Amino acid sequence: MTDTTIEPPTVSTRRAATMDKVAALCKRRGFVYPGSDIYGGLANTWDYGPLGAELKRNVKDLWWRTFVHRRRDVVGLDGGILMHPRVWEASGHVVNFNDPLVDCRTCKSRFRADHLIEERLGQHAEGKSPVEMTAILQAANLPCPNCGNRTLTDARQFNMMFQTTIGPVSETGTQVYLRPETAQAMFVQYKNVLATARVKLPFGIAQVGKAFRNEITPGNFIFRLLEFEQMEIEYFVKPDAGAAAFEDWLSAMRTWLRSVGVRDEHLRVREHAKDELSHYSSRTVDFEYAFPAPMGWKELYGLANRTDFDLRQHQEHSGEDLTYFDQETNSRYLPHVIEPTFGVDRTLLVLLLDAYDEEETLDVNGKPDIRVVLRLHPRVAPYKAAVLPLMKKPELAEVARRLFERLEGEVGVLVDYDETGNIGKRYRRQDEVGTPFCFTVDYDTLEDRAVTVRDRDDMSQVRVPIADAPAWLRDRLA
Ligand code: ATP
Repeated sequence: MTDTTIEPPTVSTRRAATMDKVAALCKRRGFVYPGSDIYGGLANTWDYGPLGAELKRNVKDLWWRTFVHRRRDVVGLDGGILMHPRVWEASGHVVNFNDPLVDCRTCKSRFRADHLIEERLGQHAEGKSPVEMTAILQAANLPCPNCGNRTLTDARQFNMMFQTTIGPVSETGTQVYLRPETAQAMFVQYKNVLATARVKLPFGIAQVGKAFRNEITPGNFIFRLLEFEQMEIEYFVKPDAGAAAFEDWLSAMRTWLRSVGVRDEHLRVREHAKDELSHYSSRTVDFEYAFPAPMGWKELYGLANRTDFDLRQHQEHSGEDLTYFDQETNSRYLPHVIEPTFGVDRTLLVLLLDAYDEEETLDVNGKPDIRVVLRLHPRVAPYKAAVLPLMKKPELAEVARRLFERLEGEVGVLVDYDETGNIGKRYRRQDEVGTPFCFTVDYDTLEDRAVTVRDRDDMSQVRVPIADAPAWLRDRLA
């Protein structure tokens, strides 16, 4: 083993993550950049950089494999972002998809009334009408959080759907919406799926895609975005089977969260009170995550029993018969629907927050130092391994290149290759981007045909014959 690759022991400091530290790492290492950066940015828009794009793909691919490929009862759909405007009348979004807003008459700042009630007054606000919220805010005589004047307006509703126009002339074109959720395509295409996919109840339709919401108080890095991705399933069941299917999905969602490495102690399930339920739901739970202060517990995912609300609405508005013919009972009915919904961007955020760690250590000169390490689960880590020739020398590079090609080709995963700079710094860079294993090719390699494999988490090193390296990595990732 090569001395130059041995690092001093470290002490871990728990929950090192803050939103600012994670956002800074994301920019520094190419996970997430501010949107339109060279134009000074566009508030609350973000672009995923090279490593963010990989992390996101890994999460979406894993989700698809887990919930579509590995199940015999779920099929996929890839619907459009633009849909007939009547879809959103039927779904209730035109009337109900509102945020309650208050303005400050003095400084013109705008706030979500429900957030003010929850965050400033510590009361629950979901499900309350604007009149009720106004009454609560007025009773508390709440000052404007921005300028301090007691000049907040009454709460009023603001529809969150983005509108655009089909056709060259905006006055005569058709007004359409950018979809605010992916769910509706699954209801609108339910009949086509039923006719073509040879499915029987219970079955689900899954979709991953963009959704758009004109959020008034976006922020907290990628937590609340104007444009985001959802991974959703509409699971159709017999009318009396909703409650049992709900429990099954609750447990499937927990299993998923564990499988991508979210820590149990940062998760809780919160049941919605009756007055908090959305217009379509008979039961909803939120998976909440303990975000670093000052955010605290906030929604990560949701699970809702949508009953037959959506199919019934679309049946009425479209005039199409959307009933299901049950051959067993020789009867027709509208199925009920259980909807597990997973935000892609929030998944990435919690994976990064849970993975971020700082360890007190010593640098190469023996001075106190902090090692930043992203302890991402190998399943989702952008690079599964890195190949590092100890020095930039042709004889090492040749072996390292061949190893890189074999790992990439035979294991079929993304591998980094880095030959510049001192080896300690290269390890630190891989630690910061969450690469689980570094394969170092050194001068001993030329003699013994083996490489040093360094583990990201405990920095332990083992010597592995080059011939066995692909199998060794495949075993670790399995
Ligand atoms: P919130 O209460 O945080 O606004 P919501 O209850 O409106 O969320 P849903 O309509 O249930 O959210 O959307 C399903 C999932 O989509 C959420 O659990 C979340 O993961 C994700 N999501 C919703 N809105 C946003 C957003 N503005 N930015 C990023 N992800 C979002």
